[in-house]
Amino acid sequence: MLSRRLKSLKAYKTETTPAKIKLSSNELPLDLPGELKEKISQEIKKISFNRYPDPHSEELKEVLSDFLGVPERNIMLGNGSDELIYYLSVAVGELNEGVYIPIPTFPMYEISAKVFGRPAVCVPLDKTFDIDLEGSLRAVKENSVRLAYYSYPNNPTGNLFSRDKILRIREEGVFSVIDEAYYHYCGDTFLEEALHREDTVILRTLSKIGLASLRVGMLIGKEEVISELEKVRLPFNITYPSQVIARIVLTEGRYFIDSAVSKVIAEREKVYRELREMDGVEVFPSRANFILFKTPFDADRVHEELVKRGVLIRNMSYLPGLEGCLRVSVGKPEENDAFLEALKESINYLTTRSEKST
Ligand SMILES: *Cc1c(COP(=O)(O)O)cnc(C)c1O
Repeated sequence: MLSRRLKSLKAYKTETTPAKIKLSSNELPLDLPGELKEKISQEIKKISFNRYPDPHSEELKEVLSDFLGVPERNIMLGNGSDELIYYLSVAVGELNEGVYIPIPTFPMYEISAKVFGRPAVCVPLDKTFDIDLEGSLRAVKENSVRLAYYSYPNNPTGNLFSRDKILRIREEGVFSVIDEAYYHYCGDTFLEEALHREDTVILRTLSKIGLASLRVGMLIGKEEVISELEKVRLPFNITYPSQVIARIVLTEGRYFIDSAVSKVIAEREKVYRELREMDGVEVFPSRANFILFKTPFDADRVHEELVKRGVLIRNMSYLPGLEGCLRVSVGKPEENDAFLEALKESINYLTTRSEKST
């Protein structure tokens, strides 16, 4: 008796192949320092595990307000931004109204729209991975689109869409969700728009800056928008351990996050330069903590050869427009070097076996 809607759905694909070096999920490559973990275990001991957590995560929100530089009343929390994406897909517009998604992008936007039976209006990006404005405006008008998702920078292509194009589409009466999951690696933001307009919100997350295991995502918007969206939030969506740990890390571990992010940005530039030098590799510039690239070989084969050499990255060739493409997360210097070495070897191996697919 399951809904017919589910028939057309595919479960979100995670990469779980075991490998020594894991550069597949855009996580921060460094774990928290020992003294911080020590502090966390002391605080965890004090939790009354039999009690429900604070439903409003008040103490965490106070710290987040400082971290994000916005008042608490402008923040809504989700069990990861994934949960907030679900909330937006059910709360913005009516369920028969379209959801605009420039593709290829993060798959959760389309999945969440489809879960609620909404038309997903997917419009391919242009050759430079920017928004096709003309095609998008046409699709938005034809499908009574009310909601749009923009990964900013875009996962997995790594670039920023033109701001003007996002604003132009919004003029058609489209509520715009700017997903800034990679904000710390980029710095560009729609924060001011989100604080002052009722048709724009931004999403942030702790997942890409060292706390993926906690599942804490943030939505920032105008107070009037937040108070309405709060009506769809599940009462205890942020576990108490997550509230406690996030609070400690964002107060006492800020130095660690900042220095780790700077290291990753420096490594991103190094990996980009090295990939650009590599014969046969086409690499795309990135404003995030991952890099998309293309080889002349079948991406499944490249992926397989890398796994054989102990390196796991993400095969992106299943997404439309990304044939032959793979995405590597920026890791620790020695992990990046191991990846670059393994890629060189894999390409040499595939070249000698002349497995070129194009
Ligand atoms: C990783 C990622 C997310 C997921 O964030 P969580 O807070 O871990 O749910 C959201 N959006 C984009 C674009 C991402 O790449």
